[in-house]
Amino acid sequence: MTAPLPPQVRVFVRDWLSSNNILLKSAAGHVLIDTGYVRHAPLMLALLASRQGLDGDTLARVVNTHCHSDHMGGNAAVARAYGCPIAVPEGEAPLIRRWDTKALWIDYAGQTAERFDVDDVIVPGATYVWGNLQWRALAAPGHDMGAVVFYNPEHRILISGDALWENGYGLVMPREVDPAALPATRATLDMLAKLDVAVVIPGHGEPFTDVAAALERAFSRTAAFEADEMRMVRHALKVLLTFTLLDRQRMPLDELPAFVEQVPIFRDFNARYLQLAPVALAQRLVDELERAGAARRDAGMLVPASGR
Ligand SMILES: [Zn+2]
Repeated sequence: MTAPLPPQVRVFVRDWLSSNNILLKSAAGHVLIDTGYVRHAPLMLALLASRQGLDGDTLARVVNTHCHSDHMGGNAAVARAYGCPIAVPEGEAPLIRRWDTKALWIDYAGQTAERFDVDDVIVPGATYVWGNLQWRALAAPGHDMGAVVFYNPEHRILISGDALWENGYGLVMPREVDPAALPATRATLDMLAKLDVAVVIPGHGEPFTDVAAALERAFSRTAAFEADEMRMVRHALKVLLTFTLLDRQRMPLDELPAFVEQVPIFRDFNARYLQLAPVALAQRLVDELERAGAARRDAGMLVPASGR
C-alpha cells in the first residue's frame, strides 16, 4: 500500500548502511532530516540536488533524528555544500561537540563518520515548522538514548528514525552495558502506540502504513529481549558485523578473528558475555550471519548476501 504523504515530503529510501533522507520542502527554507553514512555522501548529495530533491534550490537546515554514523555521516558534506546549519537532538549535542566516538558508536563499533559542528539543538516537546507542516519533537530513547522522533498530527505522519521500523528497530544495548536502554525502548514503544499515526517514515526501509502490526512486532521483539539478555548480545554483534560488511563490501575470513579482537565493542561484549577465543567468536558470527541470510562465504571472503 502506497503511503499517503503530502507532496512537500520527499523520502529518499536508502539502505542499511545509510539511513533514509527526508526532505521537507517549503518556501520558508527546505529542511533535510538525516544524511546517511559518510561513504555514501556523494550519492546522498546527488539525490538531494536532483529534480525530486532541491532541484536547484538551496538547503536551509539539516536535522538529525539521532547521531549514529548511518544518520549523521553526511552532515559535514551537506553543510559544506550548502553552508547551512545543523541541528541535533539536545541529548546528542554534547556527544557531538566533544566527538565522543565511544558513545556515538563510531570507532568503538568499527565505523567512521566525518566530524561536524552543532549549530542548534532539537528540544523534545518543542514544535518545529518544516515543509509548511508542524512537527512535534518527541524524546524516543532506547536504541539511542538521545534520539527523537517527529510527529505531524495533521497528516498523522511519524518520522521514527531507528525507534520503529516496519520490522523491528535499531539494536539496543544489553542490560549490563546500559540498564536504562531496554526499559526506555519499551516506554518509547508505549508512547508511540498512543499516537494516532497513519504513516511511518522509518530511518531504514520504505514508509509504511500498517503501524499496528509494526508495533506488535516491536513489542514482541522487546519481550524476547527482556526474557533473554544473551539474545540482545548476539543480535547486537550480528547487526554491527553486518553493518561493517556493508561498509567494506568484503572482509577476508581469516582477518575476522583480529577484527573481533580489535574493535572495542566486539572485544568488550566478548569479554563480558561470551568469553570465546577470537577465532571461535568470528566463526560463530559468520555462521549466524549466513543462517540469517545476511552474508555468505565466497573464496575466503565474507560478503553481503545479494538482494539484501
Ligand atoms: Zn541508529
